[in-house]
Order: sequence, then structure tokens, then C-alpha cells
Amino acid sequence: MTASIGRVVVLLGAPGAGKGTQAQILSEKLGLAHVATGDLFRAAVRDETPLGVTAKGYMDRGELVPDAVTIEMLLERLAKPDAEKGILLDGFPRNTAQAEVLDKALADKGGRVDVAPYIEVPEADLVGRLGGRWICRAAGHPYHEQTKPPVTPGICDADGSELYQRTDDQPATVQARLQQQLGALDLVVDYYRTKGVLKVVDGRQGIDLVTGDLLAALAPANG
Ligand code: ADP
Ligand code: ADP
Repeated sequence: MTASIGRVVVLLGAPGAGKGTQAQILSEKLGLAHVATGDLFRAAVRDETPLGVTAKGYMDRGELVPDAVTIEMLLERLAKPDAEKGILLDGFPRNTAQAEVLDKALADKGGRVDVAPYIEVPEADLVGRLGGRWICRAAGHPYHEQTKPPVTPGICDADGSELYQRTDDQPATVQARLQQQLGALDLVVDYYRTKGVLKVVDGRQGIDLVTGDLLAALAPANG
């Protein structure tokens, strides 16, 4: 952990709800560091680090990577200097054990989770979101075949890098991810509701409308 920590926002949502899409927009608008545990794991897998070798099997099966390695990776990331400007967490915490560790780590630095917006999308919509998803190699910018196609097929609008489909977005793994992860997400949502920081946003709307609702939820008066 850095000596101090700025505002902490936890973006919640099921796989495919739009966390990555919105986190990239919001982190830029609000000047927060975007910390996505899925992106950190994918970089480790690509670089074949020991962490990546451990994580790969779990990711391929659509399971959560064990808490011990996930939490260590997250705390190392939060120790980087850019966390001082505040952080937008995307994909962490994914169970209540992770939520408790995060609270404790933040409390040690005099910080706390300020607001936890939950992008709510019905399970029936998630399969189509994930099946049509393409992301860029350079920075993980997400696109969708129907709802957000790139200007030039196969190329990222933002940085010109190649688009690819994640292996865990294949139908069989999507089913496994939803089956294994949605129950834990419900408990995390309840955790932040009890703490009084949860803000539910309707994620069935178009991307721009969801962004608007999230910005309203994140306005200073709202935490
Ligand atoms: P999505 O945004 O589609 O839900 P992510 O990119 O966030 O997917 O995560 C991809 C995979 O990385 C997850 O299915 C899981 O295996 C692993 N992962 C990411 N974040 C966590 C976490 N906080 N705890 C455990 N595993 C995680
Ligand atoms: P997550 O990080 O929660 O797994 P993503 O941001 O990667 O979700 O979005 C999943 C897929 O759905 C992507 O293909 C993305 O382009 C698309 N998408 C994101 N938000 C919306 C939305 N509001 N409406 C329609 N499609 C969306």
C-alpha cells in the first residue's frame, strides 16, 4: 500500500455487465487509477510468470483464482504510487473474503470504499454480451459485434491494435463462469448494501446512459 490512498470506487457487475467498458471511461473522466484484476491476470498469463501459470487453469475453467494469490496481487498493485490519486476497482472483490481483506487494507491507511456502483444486468443478457465480445491486445479496450462494433473490423479504434476473443468467452466457459461466480457476486452486493455504499445502476441501457447513471452515482455528494 502507498502511504495514503485517495478515493476508492468498487465497480460491481457480473461477467459481461460492462465493468471494463465503464471503468475505462470513468477512470479517465474522474482521474482514478483503473485496477482490473482480470487484466492483471491476463498480463501474467501472457508473460508466463509464476502467477500467470497458477492463474491460467482457474481462468480457463471459469473459476475464481484462489484468494491468497489474488489478494497478494491486488495489494501489490495498490502499493504503486498512482493509487494515491484514488482507484477504480474492476473485478475485485469477487467474494466476501476479498471484500473484508480490502476493507482492512484500506483502513490501515485511513481509507475506505467510498462507493460501490453495481451495474445490474439480467443473467439472460450476459451470454450474448460475452459471446460477442472482442478486446484489444494493447489495452483490453472492449468491443461487441452488435452493440459496439469497431470502425474497422478487427482493429481497436483507440490504439489500432488487433482485436481478439478471449478463450474464456467461449459458450461452455461462459456457462461455467456464470454458474460459479454469480452466487458470490450476490453476496458481495449484499456486503456493500449493508455498509451503505451500494448504488444500483440499470446496466440494460446503452453504454452512454449507463455512464451517465454511474457519474451521477459517483458525484461527490453521493460518496
Ligand atoms: P469478466 O470481466 O468478464 O468477469 P475478468 O476479466 O474480470 O472477467 O476476469 C477473468 C477471470 O480472471 C475470472 O473468470 C477469474 O478466473 C479471474 N479473476 C479476475 N478477478 C478475480 C478475483 N477478484 N478473484 C478471483 N479470480 C479473479
Ligand atoms: P465486463 O468487464 O463486466 O465483463 P465488458 O465491459 O467487457 O464487461 O462488456 C461485455 C461486452 O458487452 C463487451 O462486448 C461490451 O462491448 C458490451 N457492452 C458493454 N456495455 C454494454 C451496454 N450497456 N450495452 C450493450 N453492450 C455492452
